[in-house]
Amino acid sequence: MRIDQHSVLYAVIGHPLGHTLSPVMHNRAFEATGENAVYMAFETDRLADALNGMRALGIRGCSVTLPFKTAVMPLLDDIDPLARAIGAVNTIVNRGGRLAGYNTDAAGALAAVREVMEPSGRRVVILGAGGAARAAGFALKEAGASLTIANRTPEKGKALALALNATFAPIDDLRGLPADLLIQATPVGMHPRQERCPLDEALIQAPVVMELIYNPRETRLLEIARRKGAAVIPGLRMFIHQGAAQFRLWTGKEPPLEAMEAAVLAALEHP
Ligand code: NAP
Repeated sequence: MRIDQHSVLYAVIGHPLGHTLSPVMHNRAFEATGENAVYMAFETDRLADALNGMRALGIRGCSVTLPFKTAVMPLLDDIDPLARAIGAVNTIVNRGGRLAGYNTDAAGALAAVREVMEPSGRRVVILGAGGAARAAGFALKEAGASLTIANRTPEKGKALALALNATFAPIDDLRGLPADLLIQATPVGMHPRQERCPLDEALIQAPVVMELIYNPRETRLLEIARRKGAAVIPGLRMFIHQGAAQFRLWTGKEPPLEAMEAAVLAALEHP
């Protein structure tokens, strides 16, 4: 990779960033498409200062991760309507000093689902009511799915269901609830506690099961779903597609999906 006086800088801001795979994914994408650009991880708790630095130094784009996805919104100049509806921004585009916020988690979730099924008219159960569940829920609602939200804390689950014009179900009531697609959007089963599974085996019944966790590549939940004959969508698919949507916003080019996936897989295998 050549870095010179014309190189364009991109970054991820948040904390902690110790496990982020965005730099390997985006740097491989820049390399594969011949972009003279570099992507760095800036772990910071000084959000406003980081945005001023972005403006001052001409950092062309940023990924925004925990804990800033909502807090960043009042500090931006423009916000895409979908990101505003979701209430979270994970991507910033710097257009000559004006910072615009987008949410590519939503597009990433939808693209990952569409690799396996068209969600219009389908019954989708989402387990979880945090930021990722919210982004996936808005995208699927817009695509015409009918949604049920199940969550450990009923108040949060009901609030998300209300925002999505969806129904709420306590987790135990998922038994027998007809669903075409189950989306697992909690951190239960994530590295280093990959022996965990957020649902009893009997509740994993849908013919298509999507996981949002991408480390490990195949969670216990996906193992069970696969054994039961379901089609599975690993969390890596959403991760790659949300990054691909960022790449499009930043460069206007088509993202090199295979190269991006290969970079992330190599990083997962050799952390
Ligand atoms: P979040 O905002 O903190 O929400 C976490 C959700 O999980 C909440 O609904 C919470 O329920 C539930 N939860 C947490 N611990 C639980 C437990 N022990 N048992 C049952 N439910 C539990 O997190 P997030 O940002 O939405 O992220 C969720 C997952 O999605 C993470 O694993 C993250 O890595 C993944 N993710 C993946 C992508 C991707 O591109 N593949 C993108 C974004 C996020 P309560 O309301 O009861 O607390």
